[in-house]
Amino acid sequence: MTTCELLAPAGSLEKLKIAIHYGADAVYLGGKDFSLRANAGNFTEEEMAEAVSYARSRNVKTYAALNIFAKNQDIPAIESYLDFLKGIWPDALIISDPGLIRLAQKRAPEISLHLSTQANTTNYQSVLFWQDKGIKRVNLARELGLEEIKNIRKKTGLELEVFVHGALCISYSGRCMLSLYLTGRNANQGNCAHPCRYAYHLQEEKRPGEFFPVEEDARGLYIFNSKDLCLIKRIPELLEAGVDSLKIEGRMKGILYLATVVRAYRAALDAALGRKGGEVFSIEDALKELAEISSRQYTENFFYTPPGEQDMLYGGSSVRQPFIPAAVVLKGGPRPILRANHVIRPGEEFEYMHRSLRQTRFEVTTLFDAETGVRLEKTMGGEVVRIECRPRISFEPYALVRKRNC
Ligand code: SF4
Repeated sequence: MTTCELLAPAGSLEKLKIAIHYGADAVYLGGKDFSLRANAGNFTEEEMAEAVSYARSRNVKTYAALNIFAKNQDIPAIESYLDFLKGIWPDALIISDPGLIRLAQKRAPEISLHLSTQANTTNYQSVLFWQDKGIKRVNLARELGLEEIKNIRKKTGLELEVFVHGALCISYSGRCMLSLYLTGRNANQGNCAHPCRYAYHLQEEKRPGEFFPVEEDARGLYIFNSKDLCLIKRIPELLEAGVDSLKIEGRMKGILYLATVVRAYRAALDAALGRKGGEVFSIEDALKELAEISSRQYTENFFYTPPGEQDMLYGGSSVRQPFIPAAVVLKGGPRPILRANHVIRPGEEFEYMHRSLRQTRFEVTTLFDAETGVRLEKTMGGEVVRIECRPRISFEPYALVRKRNC
């Protein structure tokens, strides 16, 4: 295979620009409704229009998520939303509800349809079914292993997309009632409260505030707390299997996570594709880079065999955070304008994250208010500042600056 797409999440316009900066070939995003990530920030209609045009001008594709399981009362608003999408023309809709597929094909027939993982496609007959229905691409169920993916590829001609990185859901292809049942927040409407990762105790109704431990085994009670998916080492096999798109999960993840994962997968995919030009990194280099962000440890899930006890985190959900995102570059050059994410003080040391798997350490020597030019002693998160630094670096817009978390 000579090409394969790297598909990254875009939970906001800024995240979209960061994902593109670090090498995404395509990004997926959601409007304020109907996209299964109600808390992702998401895009207003104006932002979506800007996102599609920004990405297109950089030869990056945009896929708009419309993957809720709709109720009758949702349909009129979805019709209007489809009319809007038709106007801005993203490269595809990510969709799973058969009714919405029918509606989209009538209302916005020019936009390609990608079947969401929520549709739970686990065999080649299902892929052929969706091919007959006019679907262009299928995101295969996360419950599939390599041999099953290869078999589907041999027997079908649709584009195949596979999740390669991110948090894993206990439920079969994300169809889960746990959150709705325990918290009233419906995962299938994009509002999951992630109760599968809570710590549970028992409380007797006449003894409020007294919590009794519940022990399923010696380690305590768990419902499900999977390690995170990471298939970066398996990219060569996925290319060999004929997969068309590698998808990174995480529209709700932070900017540092996004930048790190996208550039790591970009480097690994380029290495696997044998792309030359620029700096060449190996998949092992990319794996080391992934170790620099917080994770719940990694699993390859169903890739070779179904997951077992070793793929769960029974000890808790805590994550390690080696770096913090210090700032996003808004305007590049040797004296860049940054939007600070955390406190920045002159004299402190930071790392500039290049597009490749390289960073340059630098010291902020002087800090100015970007608007007034007034010199500052420090800046708080959210403020826009101009910096001078040592050594001088040519900063690029939408690159990230990180700081070691001591
Ligand atoms: S509660 Fe857990 S398993 Fe259920 S949808 Fe949410 S994240 Fe997935």
